[in-house]
Amino acid sequence: MARIGFIGLGNMGGGMAANLVKAGHQVRAFDLAQAALDRAAEAGATVAGSAAEAVADAEVVVTMLPAGKHVRAVYAGEVLGKAPAGALLIDCSTIDGASAKAVSADAAAAGYRMVDAPVSGGIAAANGGTLTFMVGGSAEDFAAAQEILAGMGKAVIHAGASGAGQAVKIVNNMLLAANMIATCEAFVLAKKLGIDQQTFFDISSKATGQSWSMTSYCPVPGVGPESPADRGYQGGFATALMLKDLKLAMAAAHEAGAAVPMGAAAESLYQAFANAGSAGLDFSAIIKLLDGTEAS
Ligand code: NAD
Repeated sequence: MARIGFIGLGNMGGGMAANLVKAGHQVRAFDLAQAALDRAAEAGATVAGSAAEAVADAEVVVTMLPAGKHVRAVYAGEVLGKAPAGALLIDCSTIDGASAKAVSADAAAAGYRMVDAPVSGGIAAANGGTLTFMVGGSAEDFAAAQEILAGMGKAVIHAGASGAGQAVKIVNNMLLAANMIATCEAFVLAKKLGIDQQTFFDISSKATGQSWSMTSYCPVPGVGPESPADRGYQGGFATALMLKDLKLAMAAAHEAGAAVPMGAAAESLYQAFANAGSAGLDFSAIIKLLDGTEAS
């Protein structure tokens, strides 16, 4: 059992903090949004008045923030020098590798241990404690983080040195984005060919077209297990965040000289969908762009 300061209690962080409480840890939580703080209090966490207060006596700090700029600002202003020296810092946000490495180097210089530990699995996995963590950092720091992360996930895997967790995460999300768009295209085409959406699901989910996007996160309302499509594409994984990850993947591919034509097509489609005013909708809502209902 550890004293944990948790910062960022949004779609993902809310459930993750609740699972740390369930695992027996003392969680002191902070978010800028009052609704997120209320949910954390209901789950048994102690609510702090600021991020610095949340980490003031923490042995472990966990952050789940939107993007690199938030992570850099929170660590520089509210964590480094505010959390006790020697504390283990775990950033679970999906951010660019350069920010991850820079924050980690600053943390080490200030006497902290740090890993990047982005997640895969979505809100259901965050709430259910079944996330997959991909961790970048030293073997020693990974071992220390593993114990804490096990309370929030089903798999905790060492990806390599600092920044390697973020590298795996953006590659995985590039694959997910292309997969989701292909799944949406397939449902739209099946419908235009006169095939009932449920019938297409029943067949393709047991055939070679099957994927996580289809069977765990179906973009068609009323088909497959409950997903953001059944809630008007609210909550879930915002299009803006998927677009952020695709931009990170494209920048990394450019730097590495890798050919990523499907990733580039996915980026341009998500950019068009965000430009059409849908940045706040779950990323599976891209089916609206493909079936022409995005303006409705
Ligand atoms: P979110 O926008 O729902 O939550 C982020 C939270 O951070 C918000 O509640 C916001 O108020 C808070 N926040 C922002 N700045 C803050 C600050 N300075 N101090 C305290 N709190 C602050 O986003 P999310 O969907 O929970 O995603 C979080 C991260 O996880 C992102 O990097 C995302 O790419 C990644 N991710 C999301 C999913 C998903 O399915 N939603 C899946 C895997 C990874």
